[in-house]
Amino acid sequence: MITVEKLTKVYGNGDSAVTVLDNLDFSVQQAEIFAVVGPSGAGKSTLAQCVNLLERPTSGSVIVNGENLSQLTEAQLRAARRRIGTVFQSDGLFSRRTAAENISLPLDYLGVTRADAKKRVGELLERVGLSSHAKHYPHQLSGGQRQRVGIARALALKPTVLLADEATSGLDPASTASITALLKELRTDLGLSILFITHEMETVLQVADSVARLDNGHIVESGRVVDLLRDASSPLGRDLNPAKP
Ligand code: ATP
Ligand code: MG
Repeated sequence: MITVEKLTKVYGNGDSAVTVLDNLDFSVQQAEIFAVVGPSGAGKSTLAQCVNLLERPTSGSVIVNGENLSQLTEAQLRAARRRIGTVFQSDGLFSRRTAAENISLPLDYLGVTRADAKKRVGELLERVGLSSHAKHYPHQLSGGQRQRVGIARALALKPTVLLADEATSGLDPASTASITALLKELRTDLGLSILFITHEMETVLQVADSVARLDNGHIVESGRVVDLLRDASSPLGRDLNPAKP
């Protein structure tokens, strides 16, 4: 579970200070996909970076499974980050390593034995449907397959929380659908809390249990997708519903 409380991020100081995230409150339950949707510049990626503390929030807290990350030392934070998997738009794979070798990286860094790493990588490849592509290099995989490798790598250390920042942006509709189906499987099978960041409403509708609209650093509307779709007075519900343009 992820709880964000009064999260504020200000870049710069004095006259040049810009408030990129203003007092955000939300939580992502266990086994829930929570989407954050909003236009370019809204603060979505900053939010993702504040949730895994790659950026220090200016104020407020980020609590992952009861642990307040904002209060940890750097060393404690490194350990805590292992429980947070992250997937980005650019898959971040190493081009000279095979799919299996890319997935194995976090295990290798931690000094997991070769036999254990091999077993875990096999399980992960199967989990993302790429058992037959273990020895393929990134350039031999489609965009959607590369994202699957990225997801498998993010899962290598058995995180409880997954952050996906524009993980389907730039993919064609079929590849997007296969990634959203995989994320839903992971939510249900592993009970992951998934923070899914996107600028695409259609993808929110496909994947999310709950959604918040971020605009200019503010959450302007949020709720469960089923409730928003039923609520005729909800602008976000209207934007989510393809039948009511
Ligand atoms: P996109 O959809 O284009 O990815 P986004 O919603 O992810 O946009 P962010 O990348 O979070 O937006 O940026 C939000 C705002 O914060 C932007 O105005 C950006 O210029 C500013 N910003 C981001 N990082 C920094 C930084 N390191 N220093 C100063 N300003 C920054
Ligand atoms: Mg972004």
